[in-house]
Amino acid sequence: MVKHIERFAPSPTGPLHLGHAFSALTAWDRAMAEGGDFLLRIEDIDQSRARPEWEQQIYEDLEWLGLHWPIPVIRQSDRMPAYRAALQNLWDRGLLYPCTCNRRDIEQAMAAPQEGVLPIGPDGLIYPGTCRAPASGPLPDGPVSLRLDMAKAAEIVGMISYEETGEDARHPIVPPETLITNIGDVVVSRRDFGTSYHLSVVVDDAFQGVTHVTRGADLAEATAIHVVLQRLLGLPTPTYHHHRLIRDENGKRLAKRDDARAIRKYREDGVAPEDIRKMVGL
Ligand code: GLU
Repeated sequence: MVKHIERFAPSPTGPLHLGHAFSALTAWDRAMAEGGDFLLRIEDIDQSRARPEWEQQIYEDLEWLGLHWPIPVIRQSDRMPAYRAALQNLWDRGLLYPCTCNRRDIEQAMAAPQEGVLPIGPDGLIYPGTCRAPASGPLPDGPVSLRLDMAKAAEIVGMISYEETGEDARHPIVPPETLITNIGDVVVSRRDFGTSYHLSVVVDDAFQGVTHVTRGADLAEATAIHVVLQRLLGLPTPTYHHHRLIRDENGKRLAKRDDARAIRKYREDGVAPEDIRKMVGL
């Protein structure tokens, strides 16, 4: 039987809060219940916001919660050659094109004043295709965004499906038309990062042999993008578990800047790890 492998993949751009604790503990509990492994991955592709002190605090907070994981920990900033290889693969097959549009350009190209609302997908505004063109020459090396030509991708992957377990157990099936209309040409390499969240997470989950992805419901919609990339790159699709979000008393989901609910703050106030479990409903 395949070993159950979970991961927690925080970005070191601020303190971990109750929402992160819920995610990490849920992944941990599921891994332990299955006699599996719990891995930690540091998602620091945004080097303008990642800080070593936040990374250090992630380790301290998670250890305090009673979690442990294999060392060395994978840091995405050390994995750029792997992301580049994946981009090269997609580029060579004519599935990517460079894009120079900023948000304003996209809004202007989409402008539909009489309807008012612009179509938004799991990765933001659905790109109107301004820069779409058959790719030629070598994979660009400089600061330029690369988009996935979703119509071409959909032609290759066809209908996609994956497993959702947990509170929202289901078997989503996404037809090619939905990929094209509701997701569109997503950015797979950002000009400032040389990769993207979507590409890196897919490459790394496969590299680390992750079989079960546990993360917040805010990322449920993006899963179709991940499955498309997995199919294109010949990578396995894990089982997904998107858990409820932890909200503040006004019903707003917690953000990184929400220091009041930082794990560190609770630690300093003398709260016990078991109390954190209770607070998030575990
Ligand atoms: N790094 C992402 C975050 O901190 C999580 C990505 C994932 O679990 O897929 O929100």
